[in-house]
Amino acid sequence: MQVQASRGVILAAGDFSAGRDLKARWINEQVAEFVPVNPHATGDAQTMALELGGQVLNADVFDVPSMRLAPPPSDGLFGLLQKLPPRRILTRTVRWGLDHLPDRMIRTLMMGFVTTYLSPREVMFDEGALLVDASGDLRSGTDENINLTVASLGEAGGYIIGDRALYEKFSTDPYHVATAPGVAFAYMPDFRRARPDVYAEAPTLESLADRIGVPAEHLTKSAAAAGTLNGQAPYFALGPVRAYLLQTNGGLAIDSELRVVGSDGTSIPGLFAVGNAGQGGLALFGHGHHLAGHSHPADSPDASLPARRPDPSPLQPAPET
Ligand SMILES: Cc1cc2nc3c(=O)[nH]c(=O)nc-3n(C[C@H](O)[C@H](O)[C@H](O)COP(=O)(O)OP(=O)(O)OC[C@H]3O[C@@H](n4cnc5c(N)ncnc54)[C@H](O)[C@@H]3O)c2cc1C
Repeated sequence: MQVQASRGVILAAGDFSAGRDLKARWINEQVAEFVPVNPHATGDAQTMALELGGQVLNADVFDVPSMRLAPPPSDGLFGLLQKLPPRRILTRTVRWGLDHLPDRMIRTLMMGFVTTYLSPREVMFDEGALLVDASGDLRSGTDENINLTVASLGEAGGYIIGDRALYEKFSTDPYHVATAPGVAFAYMPDFRRARPDVYAEAPTLESLADRIGVPAEHLTKSAAAAGTLNGQAPYFALGPVRAYLLQTNGGLAIDSELRVVGSDGTSIPGLFAVGNAGQGGLALFGHGHHLAGHSHPADSPDASLPARRPDPSPLQPAPET
């Protein structure tokens, strides 16, 4: 493709979380297979700039996906409420309600929302819950971060399996299943009540397998292999749980005028990069930092903020391939 531009070209095509080949090249094959939140983030800006001599910094830094329960069906009350416009009169009413209604009433009202899109806590697995895939095969109990394991299951996702002892443990403080910061903690009975679409219960593992649609012999074998359930009925399944890749943090190196900087350290005339595409090696882990506008000169002191990755060497160019 040839672009004719009298003043310059600005690359603003986002990150490469949907760029399978780029992820495989710069991160690893496992992350390459993760389903991205944004299927359009194919890394076209990075690819185009590389051809012109640009370089990508901190290409291997990515936000570790966190497992989430499937959202509720969009045709019920939840779907209706989601369609309400965020008008001030409505939000003020909600705010007033939060401040003045009795806690018990708020909790009942909120649980439908609080249990939506939430991340079940990893401690459930420490306490004996199993993660099984859509075939009922055991996926927990390895050294791998459980969120990465869930992400590896793709769209099919998996199920968290437990027994009565686990249910009872995660019914009271401090063993909440999930939390919505500043609003509430959600416990097993909340999911049982508010989210029948992601909660199943049965007197035996075989009947639980039927309820969630996995082969019974696989589920019983998984439970036996894990050896962490103590056989107290009823058994429960939470899921499907899935984990998507939110974003990659590697971006083109840029100078203080947002010009793309080549691997030889000189700026490429007329070629600019902004947003995720021109993230310039900055690791952004605070709330809102990405949206706040983050194109970052490679020579800025902040560009060497430590990244959450095994080898946090600052301003790391993508490995040559
Ligand atoms: C679910 C989710 C939640 C997030 N929450 C937060 C948050 O709370 N706070 C925060 O700071 N950040 C958050 N982020 C990150 C933030 O949204 C991004 O960092 C930001 O949107 C990046 O902006 P951008 O303009 O660089 O890229 P994008 O917003 O990805 O825009 C790039 C655009 O380029 C288009 N495009 C791609 N390739 C081409 C091509 N070849 N030709 C033409 N167009 C193309 C894409 O379709 C897209 O429209 C979140 C991201 C996700 C996915």
